[in-house]
Amino acid sequence: MASDADVVICGGAALGSATACHLAMLGFPGRVVVVEPDPSYARAATALAASGIRRQFSHPLNVRMSAYGLEFIRGLGVDFRENGYLTLAGSEAQAAILRTNHAVQRAEGAEIALLDPGALAARFPHLATGDLVLGALGLSGEGWFDNMGLLAALRARAKAAGVVYLADAVAGLDLAGDRVAAVRLAGGGRIACDWFVNAAGGRGAEIAALAGIALPVERRKRTVFVFAAADPPEGPLPLTVEPSGVWWRPEGEGFIAGATPDPDLAVGAEDFEPAHAEWEDLVWPALATRSPRFEALKLRGFWAGHYDMNLLDRNAIVGPHPAIGNFLFANGFSGHGLQQAPAVGRALSEWIRQGAFRSLDLAPFGFARIAAGRPDPERAVI
Ligand SMILES: Cc1cc2nc3c(=O)[nH]c(=O)nc-3n(C[C@H](O)[C@H](O)[C@H](O)COP(=O)(O)OP(=O)(O)OC[C@H]3O[C@@H](n4cnc5c(N)ncnc54)[C@H](O)[C@@H]3O)c2cc1C
Repeated sequence: MASDADVVICGGAALGSATACHLAMLGFPGRVVVVEPDPSYARAATALAASGIRRQFSHPLNVRMSAYGLEFIRGLGVDFRENGYLTLAGSEAQAAILRTNHAVQRAEGAEIALLDPGALAARFPHLATGDLVLGALGLSGEGWFDNMGLLAALRARAKAAGVVYLADAVAGLDLAGDRVAAVRLAGGGRIACDWFVNAAGGRGAEIAALAGIALPVERRKRTVFVFAAADPPEGPLPLTVEPSGVWWRPEGEGFIAGATPDPDLAVGAEDFEPAHAEWEDLVWPALATRSPRFEALKLRGFWAGHYDMNLLDRNAIVGPHPAIGNFLFANGFSGHGLQQAPAVGRALSEWIRQGAFRSLDLAPFGFARIAAGRPDPERAVI
């Protein structure tokens, strides 16, 4: 079956739906089709995320993207816990990175405080601070939100404006010269299109390959552990990032936590087996060392999801391919794409509707740096 669309979006999770939603908000008059094989989103990173939003980045564009993400999420009325992030430095080298990042964050208007070990101990008496050099605490505009609430709101807005969600998968791309002419679907259909958006998350490199594009994005597994503490620390607790990269935050009556595996290897598209050993080897020891209140813990559950890791610089890849100009990337988010979905959706819809990034120039995160092998790195701890 053949049909036409002005825009075909591959993947209908946070990035795809944020793009569709922003096209609708800009009054895009054309037909927009979102191709999404799994309306349950069971394996989408969007559904499996820790759903944090922070201003603690090293790259000013990331700080700005999260600022819009927060404004947008607040505007939608999505549930948001503004408990902040607390990033801990355990060496002078790490403290120097926090200070450098802090200057960037402050210049962008982010309210982040640097706390010495004494100030950390006074503010968070449950923490052991003897090994710490510095901490960075978000005083406002950071925390975590309802990921599925955001996705539902994006989809509802897009659908209300006439965006069609097709339960199918992109299986091929027909190129005509320097353009994507049509999208071939696993179900046998073919959609001729003016624009194609790659928002396929961990499968982004496979989709790019359909157009002959080598995208240096790999799936990396991240396991999230759900636990309860017998004697939990009180008070509004931030999402805390250890010097080792182990992180934890409150979730409901308990907590969730995770680690960065070492080695951090690429995994298969179907490999969602939680890395159970990380609990014993990395997460629990870090928690118990950081706080006596985390000595008696009960592991209640776990899940694993995939980061779409940009191997060049751990930053997003956004906007048109330099040669195939109607192929738009929304890829490589490397673990911070949920909070960036509104900013990227807005940017791509501006590109499609108005031919330029208007609100925030995301050109530094374009494919050109990938093609040139010129990293523009993110240096925050997670
Ligand atoms: C454990 C974990 C914790 C995280 N924590 C955070 C966090 O705290 N804050 C944050 O900002 N980000 C976080 N992230 C990252 C964030 O979840 C992702 O960057 C973001 O959700 C990516 O959204 P997406 O729409 O690009 O991809 P996904 O949510 O993965 O969606 C991709 C979609 O594409 C579809 N698709 C795949 N193949 C095809 C095809 N052939 N045709 C059509 N559709 C296809 C899939 O079905 C899927 O629905 C975390 C990720 C993980 C795994």
